[in-house]
Amino acid sequence: MSGIDGLPPLREVIATHELSAKKSLGQNFLLDLNLTAKIARQAGDLSGMDVLEVGPGPGGLTRGLLAEGARKVLAIEKDTRCLPALAEIAEAYPGRLEVISGDALQVDPLAHLTPPIAICANLPYNVGTELLVRWLTPEIWPPFWTTLTLMFQREVAERIVAQPGSKAYGRLAVLAQWRAEARIVLSLPPSAFTPPPKVSSAVVHLRALPEPRFPAERAVLERVVAAAFNQRRKMLRAALKGLAPDIEDRLEAAGIAPTERAEQVSLEQFCALARALA
Ligand code: SAM
Repeated sequence: MSGIDGLPPLREVIATHELSAKKSLGQNFLLDLNLTAKIARQAGDLSGMDVLEVGPGPGGLTRGLLAEGARKVLAIEKDTRCLPALAEIAEAYPGRLEVISGDALQVDPLAHLTPPIAICANLPYNVGTELLVRWLTPEIWPPFWTTLTLMFQREVAERIVAQPGSKAYGRLAVLAQWRAEARIVLSLPPSAFTPPPKVSSAVVHLRALPEPRFPAERAVLERVVAAAFNQRRKMLRAALKGLAPDIEDRLEAAGIAPTERAEQVSLEQFCALARALA
């Protein structure tokens, strides 16, 4: 199946360019163009938007994003073996695909993009969480992106959308839901990928809120949440005692019982505590 772009099927692309998957680069490829188009559609209407894609690999999702009408796709790929396959896609979509060969953790994409900007990626598992945290924690809000549509291991996706009281609730849930609306929009079994990973995956869609849900200083909130969940089984008065000598008073000022554990504390309460500690 070559789909609507006249390019070869992805199995042929990986055979031609000898793209045997490398575990060290988190390479689990999506080779079904119907599926990559479906993921691209989860990003919403892309016409008139630039899209940042991290880790295009052989380009299945890249093709989906372009076919779904993205104004421009900027794709950052670490594996230079993928560049010839990506060059073929760039040729099929003149002026709409720019590829940067490099590490997405090192490259600043902003100079190459014009707002409004969406980010859409089947992320390499080894850098996915780090990139998400970076995108969620810039000093200034709103951020450079409007939406994030990202594939994660199912367990990470559940941590992003988790609610208080659940085991999955933690730092990722607080950081994501403080400044964005987050939901799981698609679940994928291991068999959707080549080679199949050991675990299931899910696509999470995040939309940046115009301003954070509750006021708080970002750096203080990050510190509080990191300390609280680093020792999630401890009562907060113990887990947070390094943050202030009078932590019990501050917890009470924020309406949180000092004997509470991090897992039970709502986003609103964490923000109140960050304000009480600022
Ligand atoms: N998007 C492709 C797909 O859906 O078939 C490939 C997804 S695969 C899970 C992750 C891709 O990210 C691989 O192509 C890998 O080479 C690339 N990658 C890994 N680490 C990277 C990094 N630090 N910066 C940019 N790309 C990276």
